[in-house]
Amino acid sequence: MSVVAVEHSWRQYCCITCGLIYDEAKGWPDEGFAPGTRWEQIPDDWSCPDCSASKSDFQLMAA
Ligand SMILES: [Zn+2]
Repeated sequence: MSVVAVEHSWRQYCCITCGLIYDEAKGWPDEGFAPGTRWEQIPDDWSCPDCSASKSDFQLMAA
């Protein structure tokens, strides 16, 4: 098993309520998430900064 990061596999997650997009490659510096922060690393109690939707209200966007 290789642990080498695959840089082109960043995912984007879209808030189904307001359409805001979280991009793993960019992270979310305003929320304290550095660029490259994986969705799995975001706390389950995090909520959308725009509409307060919960993390489970975000949907994986097809590449
Ligand atoms: Zn939202």
